[in-house]
Amino acid sequence: MEAGLRVFDRYGEREKRMKARMKFLVQKLGVATFMELVETERLAIKNKAVAVDWQDAKWLEVPVVNIAPKVEPIDEQRYQTWVKTNVFPQKQAGYVGVQLRVVLGNIHAEEARVLASLVSACAADDIRFTLNQGILLRFVRPESLPYLFNELIKLGLAEPGFDTIADITACPGSDTCALAVTNSTGLAKKLEDVIRTDYPELVAETNIKIKISGCMNSCGQHMAANIGFHGSSIKKGNLVVPAMQIVLGGGIDPSGKGFIAEKIIKIPTKRVPQAVSVLLDDYETQQQNGEYFNDYFYRLGEKHFYNLLKPLAAVDNLEATDLFDWGQDYQYRQEIGVGECAAVMLDVVGMIVQDAQNKVSFAEEAIKAGIFADGIYHAYTAFVVGAKAMLLSKDVKCNTQKGIIDDFQKHYIETGDFGWSLVFSEHVLRINQNEPTEDFANSYLKDANDFVKNVIAIRSAQLNATNGVDKQVIADYYKA
Ligand code: SF4
Repeated sequence: MEAGLRVFDRYGEREKRMKARMKFLVQKLGVATFMELVETERLAIKNKAVAVDWQDAKWLEVPVVNIAPKVEPIDEQRYQTWVKTNVFPQKQAGYVGVQLRVVLGNIHAEEARVLASLVSACAADDIRFTLNQGILLRFVRPESLPYLFNELIKLGLAEPGFDTIADITACPGSDTCALAVTNSTGLAKKLEDVIRTDYPELVAETNIKIKISGCMNSCGQHMAANIGFHGSSIKKGNLVVPAMQIVLGGGIDPSGKGFIAEKIIKIPTKRVPQAVSVLLDDYETQQQNGEYFNDYFYRLGEKHFYNLLKPLAAVDNLEATDLFDWGQDYQYRQEIGVGECAAVMLDVVGMIVQDAQNKVSFAEEAIKAGIFADGIYHAYTAFVVGAKAMLLSKDVKCNTQKGIIDDFQKHYIETGDFGWSLVFSEHVLRINQNEPTEDFANSYLKDANDFVKNVIAIRSAQLNATNGVDKQVIADYYKA
C-alpha cells in the first residue's frame, strides 16, 4: 500500500483535481506498468511485510456488554419491521448486530452524544460507520432490542429499511461541495418519498440500491449502484438545465460478485423520480422468477433501457421547473469551484520555499528518531517542493512530481542556472534504489539540505532583482 501511494504521489495528476485519483493514474499507465512502479518502490519501504498474530487480535474477543432494562416496544409493528430490516444475528451466538439508518449520513453532535451513552448501555463500546452512510452497533443482546429501539426512536435513528432501496446514499453535492454540478441530497430525499409512497411493497427490498453523486467523481458511489445518478447539465440554447446521468447495473449481487454500472442516458434532474418509477415498473413486469435487478438489466441490454428512458431526455418540452435544481428557489447556473478537498487559495513562491525547508526539518526529526524510511521520504519531498518553487519562479507550470523533476533538469540544470551538473532525476530518485538504512538516510538528507540551501540562495538573488516583491503563483501556474 505504501509503495502504491508513493507511485501515486510521484506520477498522479495534481492540476486537474477531477482527475487527481488513483483510478485515472492506473488507467493512464496500465495495470502492468503501475505494478512495475510499485515493485520498484518496495526497496525503499521499511515494512515490506507485517506479520499479524491473529491469536492476539483484540477485536476477536467477545466484549462484556450490558443488558438494557426490559421494556415493551413503543410501536410493535414498526419494531417488527425494524428487526427484520436492521438487525442480524452475529456469528457469535447470543448476539445481534444493529444497523442504524442515518439519513444522508447527517447526525447532530447532541444526538451523537446521546447515542454514545446508549451504545455504552447495551452494545460493544465501538461502533462502525458503514459504506452506505449508516452506523453499525455490535454485540447487542437480543433481549436489549426493545429498549434500544425505543431510545433510537427518540433520536430519529430507528428508521427501518437499512441498506434497502429506500436507503439512498448521496454525497453532499451542491449543499457544500464546490465541485458539485447538481444537488444530490435534495434528490435523494425526493426519491425516498417516492419509494415510500408509491412502492411501499419495495421498502424492504435489499437487492436494488440507489446511489447519487453531485458530479462524476463518485463520492456517492453511483457506479456501484443498481440504479445510480451523477450530476451533470444539459444545454438548450442559452438555457442550462440541471441534469443527472443515469447509470444502471452496478453493485454487488447476492453471490458477492461485483458490477460497475453502465452509462445509459442523461435527463433533467427534475425528471429523475419519474425515471425511477419507469424503471421499477419495467422491472416488475419484465423480471423473470424474482430475478436480481442486474440480471434483468444485463439480459435486456443497455439499448432497452436507453429507449425506455429516452422520452424523459427530450428538451423540446421543458417546463419552468426543469430549470430549478432540487431544493433551490433560483434558476440553475453552473458554478464549479475548487472543491472541498482543495483548500489552497493563495500561494507565493516564498511560501513554497518555506515548505521545502519544513520538509528538511521533518526529515531530520524522523531520522533522529530512527524512522529512516519516513525521514528519507520527507527529504525526497524537500527536493520536489524546492524544485517546484524554482520552476514557478520561472513561470514553468507544475503538475506531477515526476514532471517537476524532469522540468527542473531542463530549466535549471541544463541551463546552468542552479550551478549543479548532475542528472537530477537520478539524484532524487536514488530513494527507490536503496534500502532505508541509517547511512543512506543521512547521506540523502545532507543532499536534500544542500539542495534547499541552494534554492534559498537563488531565490534571494531573484527577489533582489524584483525589489523583494514575491511572485503570486496560485492562479496561473500552479494549482497543485
Ligand atoms: S466531488 Fe464528490 S462530494 Fe463533491 S459533488 Fe462530486 S461526487 Fe459529490
